[in-house]
Amino acid sequence: MTATYDAVVVGSGPNGLAAAVELAREGKRVAVLEGKSTIGGGARSAEITLPGFVHDLGSAIHPLGYASPYFRSLPLEEHGLEWIHPDAPLAHPFDGGEAAVLERSIVATAAKLGHDAAAYRRLMEPISADAGRIAGFFVGKPGVLRHPLALASSGVRSLRNAEGLAKSVFEEDKARGLFAGNAAHSFLPLDRSPSAMFGLLLGTLGHAFGWPFPRGGSQSLANALASYLESMGGEIFTDSPVRSVNDVPRTRAVLFDVTPRQLLDIAGEHFTDGYNNALKRYRYGPGVFKVDFALDDPIPWEAEGCNRAGTVHLGGTLDEIAAGEDAVGRGEHPERPFILLAQQSLFDRTRAPEGKHTVWAYCHVPNGSSFDMTGRIEAQIERFAPGFVDRILDKRAAGTADLERWNPNLVGGDINGGYMDFGQLFTRPMPRPNPYSTPARGLYICSSSTPPGGGVHGMSGYFAARVALRYLA
Ligand SMILES: Cc1cc2nc3c(=O)[nH]c(=O)nc-3n(C[C@H](O)[C@H](O)[C@H](O)COP(=O)(O)OP(=O)(O)OC[C@H]3O[C@@H](n4cnc5c(N)ncnc54)[C@H](O)[C@@H]3O)c2cc1C
Repeated sequence: MTATYDAVVVGSGPNGLAAAVELAREGKRVAVLEGKSTIGGGARSAEITLPGFVHDLGSAIHPLGYASPYFRSLPLEEHGLEWIHPDAPLAHPFDGGEAAVLERSIVATAAKLGHDAAAYRRLMEPISADAGRIAGFFVGKPGVLRHPLALASSGVRSLRNAEGLAKSVFEEDKARGLFAGNAAHSFLPLDRSPSAMFGLLLGTLGHAFGWPFPRGGSQSLANALASYLESMGGEIFTDSPVRSVNDVPRTRAVLFDVTPRQLLDIAGEHFTDGYNNALKRYRYGPGVFKVDFALDDPIPWEAEGCNRAGTVHLGGTLDEIAAGEDAVGRGEHPERPFILLAQQSLFDRTRAPEGKHTVWAYCHVPNGSSFDMTGRIEAQIERFAPGFVDRILDKRAAGTADLERWNPNLVGGDINGGYMDFGQLFTRPMPRPNPYSTPARGLYICSSSTPPGGGVHGMSGYFAARVALRYLA
């Protein structure tokens, strides 16, 4: 690496790769330095149980990636990306063998929600009809909204807490539980704002775009970004951890796909005391405990509908999910955790040997937890699918320390690059006019610790690259 670059990106997560792609698209000479031996950050896949079983090590399901206005603007299909849409985005089973199913169609979803059918349609129809236009705003493509007044009311609702919103809008367990499961992606206690925003966002994405995943695993998305980058002359170096700015080859701009704690270690000497103090005060959220399973047969779900869904939320009623998330917020480990589960191999035959299956599952735990949740995760799956444990051929668990060793951005097991409450959702890593720049000229942060936050969407990388391009112009 003796060459001189216009820009160097540190870290090859989806945001780092998106930043590099945007810089290369504008004709800049770009290199990506990845500390690990494989690229992709949170979007990596590998055979970590038995041969032929391909597991997603981090992200699995990509409503944000599929809807991302930036990824949509790139020719990723020409570079090997193929999206798979399960028959239904999401199922949410309850005790007694019934499930709420989030279908692509709002009408079909509502039809199975009993007395809450009309309320569900009133809540989701206006926002879902305008989802594409709303997404366009993020990349500066304003469009005329079809339902501005209804959307304003959805906007106000999204600022509420999920428990309050679900209990005021819905009467029955099914619709309440479905909403609570989506809201729990926020990692916030469900009586805390803006957890409702996540419930509305994920439901809307399910209806408007689906919850697809890349054929072959999330690694295929990272590989497609890398292949496109290399086709434009961008270079990627793996096994190249950056410990200080001195490790970076000659360049005019450096974009860091890292979180505030790492940025402080790597580049703190170039920043002001005020900026460094704010980086030190940055708050990380709860962590996750994850288990990947290799199965002899598909999961024997009790409830009809679960076999048609790529993702299954396990936690039962709103009250039960809220109690579990609340316990995590207090630093405890719920006996019956809320579980996010994906069963990609039902829809993607490349993921497991003929007739066999993979399962990806995780639950929330306190940041830095060393508690082994494997037994509780298995018991929760078994509750809704009796006979599940008899089908396990092999499994691999990862606690917060394992996850952080695998990817240093997962501080204490936090998968969102920082807590996503009001104090940090829109103003990460700290309140300042341009969150992607730092006090040091030419140094930028482009990870999910900047807006719009966690998830595989590449938008943080894209926005940071646009800021760096103004400097490079
Ligand atoms: C278990 C799990 C499940 C998830 N599920 C989903 C999901 O289903 N859908 C979804 O959209 N999102 C999901 N996510 C979140 C998603 O993976 C992240 O939000 C996303 O990957 C963030 O992208 P990023 O580019 O900001 O950072 P990352 O993807 O974390 O990438 C950072 C990269 O930088 C590298 N790096 C860090 N420090 C250095 C250094 N000093 N030198 C060189 N390289 C360095 C790391 O090795 C890593 O490759 C999940 C994450 C995990 C861990």
